[in-house]
Amino acid sequence: MTDVDVTVVGAGPVGLALAAELALAGATVQIVERRTEPDMSVKAMSINVPTAEALDRRGLLAAAEQVQRRALERVGPFAPGSGARFTGHFAGMTLDADLVDWADPDLAAHTSVDGARMVPQPDLEALLAEHVARLGVTVRRGVEVTALEDTGDDVLVGTTQGSVRTGWVVGCDGGHSAVRRLAGIDFPGTDPELTGYLAVVDIADPEKLADGWSWSPLGTYRCGPGPGRVVTAEFDGGPSDRSAPVTLDALQASLRRVSGTDVTLTALRGPATRWSDNCRQAATYRSGRVLLGGDAAHVHPPFGGQGLNLGFGDAMNLGWKLGAVVTGRAAEGLLDTYDAERRPLGAWVLDWTRAQIGVLRGDAKSAALRAVVADLLSTRNGTTYAVKQISGVAQRIDLPGNHPLVGRYVPDLWLRDGSRLADHGHAGGFLLLDRTPGATFTHIASPWADRVTCVTDTSTEPAGVLVRPDGVIAWATDDTTPAGLTAALTSWAGAPPAQTALAQRPR
Ligand SMILES: Cc1cc2nc3c(=O)[nH]c(=O)nc-3n(C[C@H](O)[C@H](O)[C@H](O)COP(=O)(O)OP(=O)(O)OC[C@H]3O[C@@H](n4cnc5c(N)ncnc54)[C@H](O)[C@@H]3O)c2cc1C
Repeated sequence: MTDVDVTVVGAGPVGLALAAELALAGATVQIVERRTEPDMSVKAMSINVPTAEALDRRGLLAAAEQVQRRALERVGPFAPGSGARFTGHFAGMTLDADLVDWADPDLAAHTSVDGARMVPQPDLEALLAEHVARLGVTVRRGVEVTALEDTGDDVLVGTTQGSVRTGWVVGCDGGHSAVRRLAGIDFPGTDPELTGYLAVVDIADPEKLADGWSWSPLGTYRCGPGPGRVVTAEFDGGPSDRSAPVTLDALQASLRRVSGTDVTLTALRGPATRWSDNCRQAATYRSGRVLLGGDAAHVHPPFGGQGLNLGFGDAMNLGWKLGAVVTGRAAEGLLDTYDAERRPLGAWVLDWTRAQIGVLRGDAKSAALRAVVADLLSTRNGTTYAVKQISGVAQRIDLPGNHPLVGRYVPDLWLRDGSRLADHGHAGGFLLLDRTPGATFTHIASPWADRVTCVTDTSTEPAGVLVRPDGVIAWATDDTTPAGLTAALTSWAGAPPAQTALAQRPR
């Protein structure tokens, strides 16, 4: 194996997305993956707005829209009565699209990716695998990481196929992360109380099961969307053997218990998934030259469809930062902002899913709480609040700056020439939207031309926006004065090349 700047462990959605961002940032990167073939198990069905917008900024929107069209043909609309708008659910309570206030400013500002929300995980991984291949990233399959030694200057990575020396290692190796364990990073959190299964199956007597979500004192189950797709969640104290293969018998027994029927399953169609409500977050996302992203950094139950999206956001956040550090454009301190920015969102997702477990339990108090939450979610404000949380449009990072857009994901921004700002981000890097008459902001940013793409336009508000490579707005203004722009460029994009060269020149 070759020596590279960064070795990403795991070719799941997070590892693939991260490797692509690193390559775009100019780092040499390889992925090592223990599986010899991609994972085809049924997991995530959909992606949230920030994930879809990230695909959009990298030129992958059309491919994602095609996936959604195929998925909708296969499984039908997102939910009964919801037409084409994706809403999601809270603890199995499907959110009614007709109740949502779609004119809410946060929701109305992010509609360009509406056609790319139903992207099942295997399709997303296939799309990302093609993306990294186009960027020249090597994916070494059938290679398992078994040892790590961080020397301070680099990392020696031991694998089943030999060793490699690499500048940095990022563990995107899932909830049971070997990288996390080998780096000695704690994984505190709350223990599981339920076992869940997700599979596509053949059912001999489907009329015995109700469509949609159903609850019983033992747990819950859902049939659909699409034929044969079954989810169960049973409050049994959690899985006793997490590595045991999921059999048709185990799935049928669980479904019989939670549905109170004698339904018969005749075949598994594809690999099934076992999950639990284990909720944990890594004590740190970085230890020396070893970092964590995705499920390796946080695990929680899949209720509400957050895990893949949370990890994808990690990859987008870390990719450009680590890329800037390994190529010398930024100091190592930039990496501290990765944990600082992503940890609060991870903690929120853990609590969002814990809350759903709380209302799902079969006891009388939880059932009463579920009824109260169901009542709230049947109101316009309640549904709109939940849809904003689930879709990710309300996400905000605490960044310096007074403009309301700072720290938010860049909204849909259409330009006079008919293009969108997102169309200009395919090569990665920063985007600076400049709507001043004399291209003032572009002039100020010219020393950073190697890392900032300036896009001039003649519309008005906002007059200027600096978008980081992860889609987060670092600076914005409604007038044509450039106050704060140089500071934002220096803080996020690093010192301009001329200054860097001067600083490094031998005295
Ligand atoms: C039933 C279910 C439903 C879900 N539904 C949703 C949903 O609707 N929405 C959503 O956002 N999320 C959902 N999720 C969560 C989502 O699937 C995960 O969050 C996502 O897969 C995490 O991606 P990852 O790349 O971090 O890890 P993984 O997908 O787990 O990938 C890790 C990769 O690392 C490899 N690996 C592991 N150890 C090593 C090693 N030592 N050396 C080399 N390679 C290694 C593995 O083989 C694997 O390919 C669901 C999960 C489940 C189980």
